[in-house]
Amino acid sequence: MTTLAQQFAQHTGYAPDGLSVDLGRQLIVDAIKPVCGVERIPLRDALGRVLSEAILSPIDVPAYDNSAMDGYGFAADDLDPNDDTTLPIAGAAFAGRAFDGAIRPGQAVRITTGARLPAGVDSVAMQEVVRVADGRVTIPPGQRKGQNVRRAGEDLRAGLPALPAGRLIRPAELGLVASLGIGEVAVRRRPRVAFFSTGDEIVSIGHTARDSQIYDSNRYTLFGMLTRLGLDVIDVGVVRDAPDALESALREAASIADAVITSGGVSVGEADFTREVMARLGEVLFWKIAMKPGRPLAFGRIGTGGEADPRGAWLFGLPGNPVAAMVAFYQFARPALLRLAGVAPVAAPPLLRAVCTQAIRKSPGRTEFLRGVLFHDDGEWKVRTTGAQGSGLLSSMADANCFIVLEPERGSVTAGEAVPVQILDGIV
Ligand code: AMP
Ligand code: MG
Repeated sequence: MTTLAQQFAQHTGYAPDGLSVDLGRQLIVDAIKPVCGVERIPLRDALGRVLSEAILSPIDVPAYDNSAMDGYGFAADDLDPNDDTTLPIAGAAFAGRAFDGAIRPGQAVRITTGARLPAGVDSVAMQEVVRVADGRVTIPPGQRKGQNVRRAGEDLRAGLPALPAGRLIRPAELGLVASLGIGEVAVRRRPRVAFFSTGDEIVSIGHTARDSQIYDSNRYTLFGMLTRLGLDVIDVGVVRDAPDALESALREAASIADAVITSGGVSVGEADFTREVMARLGEVLFWKIAMKPGRPLAFGRIGTGGEADPRGAWLFGLPGNPVAAMVAFYQFARPALLRLAGVAPVAAPPLLRAVCTQAIRKSPGRTEFLRGVLFHDDGEWKVRTTGAQGSGLLSSMADANCFIVLEPERGSVTAGEAVPVQILDGIV
């Protein structure tokens, strides 16, 4: 079996000690396969879940030609192209109450939005443009054949896929499936993700942080980020910086979860001990990503992996600094977990451009993720940083509505320069 290291080494640009954000993300996402389990669930429960198979439309939607407007239906060939045409009104077609019979040549029909087009009608004039008197309608010239008509099957065609496998179900998908008359869908089971914090200095809330101890925040940001992704989360707690404690926590987490996320213990000072423990349990690579914050990242597999060892799990070792952990989660773990959940394709969040209102010092060579505030001013979108950008300052994340993403090749930014931003709404 090829190892992850062998697999990754085939990519040009693979350098564990200086990996680009884009390549790191691609390697991780490509390495991961969706969870196998499938369940059939009622439509509304499927919000936020991922389709495990395509949904084929059993019907045409709309099921019949119908009017897109309130107005008068007619056959376009009956109109004088250069002058008003007056036609007798043969009756009315309402949504849910069709006109009985056909419209004969030279007749019109009163019709409401959504009403089935009677035979003999191919076009609709909206009521605002016509005149009605004595049971007759006068339609001005300039009408187009087929206007204001929704054709059967123009939204969805019977027998063709209405939604592909791998689609994340949002409100629009719920409505679309409902429009087919389908009340139950097949989705992948939710991936289970276990997470824990490492560090002798970390205490959980509920205990008192004493001298040189700090409260655990990463388990709270992780809980939030994972829950927002619609995953089943398992909080394993805080694990001491001791090889046996780390090893048993990793074993336990991997035995109950599809993926394990840790924070702390991967930076230079601690990586050796973590590396040694993880090497005993599977294959975990320790990367230095060319980014700030979030340089150290561990990724790999605990257990042998593959179908032979279904109890194995993917491992993401995030840095301990709270902002670094969040940035690394969004850039690497999030797309990977979406893939694990079965989302296909996994699209990178869009990068939009905004005018940076302040100078930012940077040296080329790495991607920098600054926490920013995007705002509209003077007719355009502008962005500023949230202020101090230390990788431990969670307030910089809390105050932000976007990341300012400064590409590796970019140097310092001058005020007024356009910079790429990644909006947090939609990914958080
Ligand atoms: P480490 O990556 O373990 O060297 O940790 C880097 C920094 O992040 C240290 O200042 C840690 O105290 C801090 N840190 C690590 N884990 C957490 C956590 N769960 N909550 C808050 N801060 C943390
Ligand atoms: Mg630590």
